[in-house]
Amino acid sequence: MRLHAATLNRVDLYMRGGGAGITHQLPHILGVDGAGVVDEVDAGEALLAPGQRVLLHPGLSCGRCEFCLRGDDVLCTRYQILGEQRDGTLAQSISVPARNVLPLPDGWSFAEGAALGVNHLTAWRMLVTQARLQPWETVLIFGIGGGVSLAGLQIAKALGARAIVTSRHADKLERARALGADHVIDSSREDIAKAALAATGGRGVDVVFENVGEAVWAHAMKSLVRGGRLVTCGATSGDQPGADLRRLFIRQLKVLGSTMGTVAELHQLLAFCQRHGLRPVIERTFALHDVHAALSLLESGRQFGKTALTID
Ligand SMILES: [Zn+2]
Repeated sequence: MRLHAATLNRVDLYMRGGGAGITHQLPHILGVDGAGVVDEVDAGEALLAPGQRVLLHPGLSCGRCEFCLRGDDVLCTRYQILGEQRDGTLAQSISVPARNVLPLPDGWSFAEGAALGVNHLTAWRMLVTQARLQPWETVLIFGIGGGVSLAGLQIAKALGARAIVTSRHADKLERARALGADHVIDSSREDIAKAALAATGGRGVDVVFENVGEAVWAHAMKSLVRGGRLVTCGATSGDQPGADLRRLFIRQLKVLGSTMGTVAELHQLLAFCQRHGLRPVIERTFALHDVHAALSLLESGRQFGKTALTID
């Protein structure tokens, strides 16, 4: 596949910084997601053809272990992710199994297609597969502006649910409102749990969606309705919060871990996006040779939406 765009993800910063314990070999090519054009296929390939516009699923699974055989390829015991355990997508071309290549919807840019394969896929599995968010429910999304939380907001709204979002930045809250957030909480001056309870008539939210970890965990647990679900896919502020076990069992809360998504979920997500006219938010685009400036923007935490790279 000839790559035409990739978008940056937080893990690119971890890999640049030494790998964060992820097994990899140097020299290593960064970049997890990507989209482009099929260059060459194996003889007998029936579903893909050279010249086709496509996007990538970045997870490579063995197809043989018990988890792959039950359809949970994202739990594969030999799972490898592009740009982490293997060379990634900040390159002119890449060779992957055909099952990892999906058609890009008509009218989509390559950057939009690239963005779907990690952030939106992660948010989809969190909200739909793990937390099973329903149209009549309320979800609280922490740290709006990052790729996964924005994807979560877009998917939750398209599902018909009510979305409350938090941020320390007023400008991000304003932009989240424009994307459909029903209620916003400025965490620089509001107590998140109190504000979430107030916004739900004292009831609490059905689902908490978060990837911040330690810094928000206590607020997240206190924001949940009895029997509510907390789904997490990250721990950027630390991974050892207090467990709050008494609250967990007395209020019968569920804590759900999630990471990435299966190839089947990416097919579902693509169909969902086309039905609802949902597209990833690309904030800024850099040329591949400006990758350091792009990584610096990601590192600053000021971005709202995805930082994309175009590849000639
Ligand atoms: Zn496997």
